[in-house]
Amino acid sequence: MTAPLELPRSPALIAGAGSLARLGPRLAQRHGRGARLLLVADPGVAALAERVEAALAEAGLEASRFEGLSSDPTAAQVDAAAAAARELAAAAVVGLGGGSALDVAKLAACVAPEARPAADYALAARPFPAGSLPAVLIPTTAGTGSEATRTAIVTLDDGSKVWTWGEEMMAELALLDPELTVGLPAHLTAATGIDALVHAIEAVTNRNRHPLSAAPGLQAIALVARHLPRALEAPADLEARGGVQLAAWLAGQAIDISGTGVAHALGHALGALGHVHHGRAVGLALGVALADNAAAAAEAHAAVARALDLTREEQWTAGHLAGAYDALVDRVGLERRLAHERLTPESLLAATLRPENRPMLAANCRAYSEAELGGFCRRLLAA
Ligand SMILES: [Zn+2]
Repeated sequence: MTAPLELPRSPALIAGAGSLARLGPRLAQRHGRGARLLLVADPGVAALAERVEAALAEAGLEASRFEGLSSDPTAAQVDAAAAAARELAAAAVVGLGGGSALDVAKLAACVAPEARPAADYALAARPFPAGSLPAVLIPTTAGTGSEATRTAIVTLDDGSKVWTWGEEMMAELALLDPELTVGLPAHLTAATGIDALVHAIEAVTNRNRHPLSAAPGLQAIALVARHLPRALEAPADLEARGGVQLAAWLAGQAIDISGTGVAHALGHALGALGHVHHGRAVGLALGVALADNAAAAAEAHAAVARALDLTREEQWTAGHLAGAYDALVDRVGLERRLAHERLTPESLLAATLRPENRPMLAANCRAYSEAELGGFCRRLLAA
């Protein structure tokens, strides 16, 4: 018997091209005109931040921008954002950017009521303080699904990448406007879209798989397969951009229920050691494990193959699925070579086996020995 499933409230959602116009009126209604908001924005999307600020100002809201964050954000950056929210007496925190900005925004909103460092909450070591601020999350990439989950990933002072978790971290509102993703460079469109695909595949095939994660997860797989290549060929195609954005949201819901697997354990190790972009890291990592996973959990992977529309002409096999996955990774142009001075098969295996990655290894549809994981590490670095 599996444990009872408890789902949190979902964020309210505004989705579709032109959604940004709804943001100001909605927040003015919720917090009152004149309310102060902290806008946690990725420094790489300054032009979009100005658009958001203008939309908020038009509704009579005061936004103060915080841009002190990087990819692979640190706990110290979360602390700085939380301090800014306290200083401002912010009514809410608005996150704008990729997964890093959204993670910083929602974690800062949770820890802001007290001056305690964000690192103290890592790995759910303690509950969040009462009175967390509402978070509004506006992704400008389409992949991480951070806008749909109760987790955030931060890097601690020792370089380890750890997760934080809590009901309070679920956003109050997510706004998915595909117009905000049109300027995303091709390599990030590809990497974040593949992240969404890996989320969905791992969530619908791992040991915690559940009909309630299969429903959004399988739809996310179909949406990525259909729309990601088009979003790369025609970056301004709002239907394609919107399709990938919905896939990211749905895949986020799937991992929020069921979690991920071995590709995310390997991917976090690649990110921590070699600063490999998260989406590229997990995308390549799933490529080396997918055939073995599919052989071990055939029924769950058959559903993946159907969602990818692979079963029309040929009998589905594990090798066929892995080949189709590899072809998609190549089609979207994910760079395969992983070169970094700190990346060796030995260092990558050691990082994969760190305690913070154990839950993902344990959730995977089958267990892998250290020797097998070492083989994955060698194959990843041999490309
Ligand atoms: Zn991911």
